[in-house]
Amino acid sequence: MDADEIKAEIAHQRILQKEYRKRLRVLEEQAAKFGIYVPPQIQIEIDELIEKIEACETKIRQFEALLQKFPDQSPTSILAETAHHTRNKSEENPRITSDDEFQLILKARTGYVYNDYSGMGPSGKDYNILHSAKCYTFNRSSFQRKYYFKKLDEAISWLRENRGEENINWRRCNLCLR
Ligand SMILES: [Zn+2]
Repeated sequence: MDADEIKAEIAHQRILQKEYRKRLRVLEEQAAKFGIYVPPQIQIEIDELIEKIEACETKIRQFEALLQKFPDQSPTSILAETAHHTRNKSEENPRITSDDEFQLILKARTGYVYNDYSGMGPSGKDYNILHSAKCYTFNRSSFQRKYYFKKLDEAISWLRENRGEENINWRRCNLCLR
């Protein structure tokens, strides 16, 4: 969901709210004519409308909070931003610390994910593989040690420093990064 989609959703909720308020006014006027003998179906509809108006208000507030969190109007998806925000120390510590974080990165489909199976072990190039976050080989249900990088050159320099040489200690996925 990007900023424009959120704005459209807020606008939609405002329109709904306006319609509910219009209908509520009509019913309240009718109810007033009945005095204390308001027919139950009018009272029920009034109560329902009040609930709907409040539900719109809640949604509007939630969407506005989301917008506040991501004030830049770029087309960058909110999910990508969320993934980046949850990892506040991305440069110093690129490790993905939870499956939730990994799932967000997969949904956002930006950046690079390094699957670290054998650390600095000798079989590095067979298992330690750097992928694009878009790679379809990711198993969404399993979680091993992984690292996330926004940019390819960030990933490569981290790997050179911390894992060693490309094609010996690690390699690029030959499906998504060739
Ligand atoms: Zn891949």
